[in-house]
Amino acid sequence: MLKSMPRPHLIAICLASILVVGGLLFSPQSTGSVNRMSVEIPIGQPDEADTLNDTPSASAEDRLSNFQAPMPEGRSDDTGTAGQIQAGQPETPAPNASQTTAATAPKLIWKTEEVRTGDSLALIFKRAGATSRDLITIDRALKDKQWSRILPGQKVAFAFDPTGTLKQVTIHRSMLERYEVKLDDTGIQGQTVTETPDIQLAYAEGEIHDSLFADASRAGLPDTLIMSLANIFGWDIDFILDIREGDRFRVVYEEQYLGEKKIGLGGIVSAEFINQGRTFRAVRYTDSKGRTAYYTPEGRSMRKAFLRMPVDFARISSGFNLRRKHPVLNRIRAHKGTDYAAARGTPIKASGDGKVIFAGRKGGYGNTIILRHGQAITTLYAHMQKFARGIRAGKYVKQGQVIGYIGSTGLATGPHLHYEFRVNGVHRNPMTVKFPQASPVPKSERARFNQVAALAIEQLESMSGSTQVARLDTQ
Ligand SMILES: [Zn+2]
Repeated sequence: MLKSMPRPHLIAICLASILVVGGLLFSPQSTGSVNRMSVEIPIGQPDEADTLNDTPSASAEDRLSNFQAPMPEGRSDDTGTAGQIQAGQPETPAPNASQTTAATAPKLIWKTEEVRTGDSLALIFKRAGATSRDLITIDRALKDKQWSRILPGQKVAFAFDPTGTLKQVTIHRSMLERYEVKLDDTGIQGQTVTETPDIQLAYAEGEIHDSLFADASRAGLPDTLIMSLANIFGWDIDFILDIREGDRFRVVYEEQYLGEKKIGLGGIVSAEFINQGRTFRAVRYTDSKGRTAYYTPEGRSMRKAFLRMPVDFARISSGFNLRRKHPVLNRIRAHKGTDYAAARGTPIKASGDGKVIFAGRKGGYGNTIILRHGQAITTLYAHMQKFARGIRAGKYVKQGQVIGYIGSTGLATGPHLHYEFRVNGVHRNPMTVKFPQASPVPKSERARFNQVAALAIEQLESMSGSTQVARLDTQ
């Protein structure tokens, strides 16, 4: 219905719904709203802002399944079923005496069964009025033994001809995927059928009063997208500590529809966050190689890169080694970092843009700085002689900025930097860990990117219910 509506009407409706929704449904201090418009764009890649290059990224299918109605935890005994049938039934199933010799296909009678916890296909076939012989015949005919995998909550549809002969079995695996088995005189065929959902754009905006989660949720932004939003901007904004009352956000995101029915969510298309007067904007872009990432409208990556070495003119005196004999303690103790030996007083640089979350004495580490970069990564710099001027917890630092100087404070035999790189709290070898992809949009794709970014920003602004003047990205 919305699809055919001219744009001015759409915007009017959007505005009206903001007034209604914002005015009636939400508590007085909240200004959240959601509305929706339909735009023809290709299916977006799922957003991967939260995924490092070295972690396997969730496939589109995995993500879709996350958005379906939650299913019971217990897996059904599908493999057991298939095995039992195959082992226990040596006789050759006689083909059903089919009377479907008529030229036109007979009318089919459908029966649908829902998979229950502890169910097997044999039980489901029985409930639907099909025979175990049907099941055996199908299972023998189909090479892909995955066909019989079922999960509680899924639906299995059976089609019989008027004589009661089974003609089709369809296992609905998700809103978008089903497995169809067709039985006729020529044999048994099975195939996976997938549906492509329509994508519609939806919009949410709001103002921070409590927390990003509470206020974005109140504004109607689904939980998974709040997490995405935090990941996209997480390199620039600390959503726990930096966030202030009056900060604002706007998000254009995708919803998936089959016909009129909303079946799930896509990713964030574009977003804006104004934190303490600083405006950050991000647009999604899928490059010619199919890689999707978020960029500033100017084409810089929202993720930030890392320097491989935080010290110039240094030599590695001890590498990442989980079974190293500690030089001071003289016993086996994992060395979960890299040591860079250099002259006392040599400058130590922040390996990436980030926020100082610790600057002080830390046991055997001596004078230590810990930086947080985005949501997942922290770097640690130990044994410093002293910190650079102005470096303290809460401060933002730029990549390459000097944060302190090489020393031997704490448990150290001589002047060196002990450097650690952690991903989600887990120590990784700083010399070999794959850094997040943070390159800007390549020159060869600039023209295409500029078009995508301009459209995304236009959508962000046209769907906006606020009267605020658009500000340029000041990042
Ligand atoms: Zn060390």
